[in-house]
Amino acid sequence: MVDTPRPARAARTAETLRPRSLEEALEFRARTRAVPFAGGTDLMVKYRGYTGTGMRLPGPVLFLDAVEELREIEVTEDRITIGAGVTCAQMLEKDDVLPELLRRAVELIASPALRTRATMAGNVANASPAGDTIPPLFVHEAEVVLQSPERERRLPVGDFLTGPGATALEENEIITGFVVPPLAGGRLYYRKVGTRRANALSKLSAAGWARLEGGRIAELRFAVGAVAPTVVRLREAEKLLAGAEVTEIDMQAVLEAAEASITPIDDQRSTAAYRRQVALNSLQEFLRMLAAPASAPASSAHPSSEEP
Ligand SMILES: Cc1cc2nc3c(=O)[nH]c(=O)nc-3n(C[C@H](O)[C@H](O)[C@H](O)COP(=O)(O)OP(=O)(O)OC[C@H]3O[C@@H](n4cnc5c(N)ncnc54)[C@H](O)[C@@H]3O)c2cc1C
Repeated sequence: MVDTPRPARAARTAETLRPRSLEEALEFRARTRAVPFAGGTDLMVKYRGYTGTGMRLPGPVLFLDAVEELREIEVTEDRITIGAGVTCAQMLEKDDVLPELLRRAVELIASPALRTRATMAGNVANASPAGDTIPPLFVHEAEVVLQSPERERRLPVGDFLTGPGATALEENEIITGFVVPPLAGGRLYYRKVGTRRANALSKLSAAGWARLEGGRIAELRFAVGAVAPTVVRLREAEKLLAGAEVTEIDMQAVLEAAEASITPIDDQRSTAAYRRQVALNSLQEFLRMLAAPASAPASSAHPSSEEP
């Protein structure tokens, strides 16, 4: 049987394509500047019609869910590459290879039904400062892989995100995947704070990783979402912590440095004051966890929607 592109039924007015191959997808995107549509769980909300049903996208639409090349997860010794079409549910099915921080974030996104549609590419390209997969990607120093008909380029996730709802994606590009280097040992932290455990966008989420050597912090990364226009690494605090004895951290200096990296705002989900406090509490919780013996319960930092 010849594998020809099938026209999609969903969008009402716009030109649409649901290609089977990346080549076709790229050609259509370059020619029409079509909006890439993965799971649609952000797009359907953004472009919902008056009645809340139907979708009114402003231009051509490129449905990506049938592109096989985008649906792969590839694991090598020095990285895991997650295709842009892999859904959150499919990521969780691969929990033997999925990096732990991503697992903790993805299993708290929305609800099981939504996770069968939602993708990490959509989460990142939507560029919400509250996107839950983004803090783990910052901590892993992951790269976004972008493809146009002419070339492939890779950007660190932090360079890809240029502001709330804004990215470095060019009009003829689509995200094809993410390259996620592993974290070499060490201790992990993930915390999501929302109004409830399921189907709640985050008031704030935080991810951390630290590698200790003989009681000292050899390396530490900490990223927080929903406290600035984009997800941020608390780099000034990280610098102060490098080389510190875990039991002798100057907490006040570290928290002051952390506070300088964040600029939270009031919105419908939370207040700036609450977000500032919880961001600092999260960092403090992680640092206390590092000072506790490795077998202490806090070291697993079980994902939670509770306030730290
Ligand atoms: C009820 C509900 C609960 C939710 N809960 C959460 C939550 O707990 N945490 C959270 O972080 N989010 C949550 N969301 C938001 C949303 O589900 C996620 O952001 C999801 O990961 C988006 O993925 P998607 O595949 O559906 O993206 P889509 O809606 O298809 O696309 C989102 C954006 O990404 C772009 N895009 C998608 N794929 C590509 C690509 N390959 N190349 C270039 N651009 C691309 C689209 O053009 C669009 O701009 C929730 C949404 C709903 C409706």
